[in-house]
Amino acid sequence: MTTQGHSKTRFAPSPTGYLHVGGLRTALYCYLFARKNKGKFALRIEDTDQERFVEGATENLIKILNYFGLTYEEGPILQNDKIVEQGDKGPYIQSKRTEIYKKYAEILLEEKHAYRCFCTKERLEEMRKKQEENKQAPMYDRKCLELPESEIREKLKAKESFVIRQKMPYESIKFKDLIRGNVQFDGKMIDDQILVKSDGFPTYHLANVVDDHLMEITHVIRGSGVCASLSTVKSGQNQTFKKTGTCGGRRIYIGRIHKRSNNKFCGILGMESRGRRRKRNLYIKRIGGNF
Ligand SMILES: [Zn+2]
Repeated sequence: MTTQGHSKTRFAPSPTGYLHVGGLRTALYCYLFARKNKGKFALRIEDTDQERFVEGATENLIKILNYFGLTYEEGPILQNDKIVEQGDKGPYIQSKRTEIYKKYAEILLEEKHAYRCFCTKERLEEMRKKQEENKQAPMYDRKCLELPESEIREKLKAKESFVIRQKMPYESIKFKDLIRGNVQFDGKMIDDQILVKSDGFPTYHLANVVDDHLMEITHVIRGSGVCASLSTVKSGQNQTFKKTGTCGGRRIYIGRIHKRSNNKFCGILGMESRGRRRKRNLYIKRIGGNF
């Protein structure tokens, strides 16, 4: 696949201590696409889920990409075992970009494309239970969408915990995938995703759209497993983000890796047979990793 003009891809893993074989393949595709089109390849670390963060995992990810020769022009690199950033669109580590996401969350709130949700965990559990009993799809019921401004102000004053949810547009959402062609979803089928968590950290749904725009990513290449849900959310956001000058980039969803038996391949490094594990450990030793 070729493309005209400037192109830029990104590989955006989470530093959770493991790299799935599928993740490595996505990185390879991003790298090859950028090289073929004489474009750029960037590495971005998506570490906004602090609960899943594993110490040393970012360093290991960089070492794995180095080991396989997947060089990149932008993103964190290792210099004397220390992480330093290269490129002019940084920082490329999401936990260093929280102020940027806050700004975009505010814009979405102001424009009524997002809303604060004060629902407690207990209420959400109760709601899901009822939906299950009624054989309905598990979705947020938009209780907080209709909260009057005065009530929101009171809750904020009382420092009640809240998340920010995207208001999915209830309309047909279309986008073009460079492999699958035109893809279309009904917005009503998609949940109002959480964009900012109660701890103030953004979720993937907000952070990756903002970053793809600001880092000028032209082609988003990723696994197809997330195609149905996430791309729709992104498309929904893109409608909003168009107004704020964000663009998103073109989409390329690649198929999953399958075993010969056609079962989904379980390729997380570290879940193999004993023999394979031994080989893996040897390889990890070579790159100086410890997971
Ligand atoms: Zn709510």
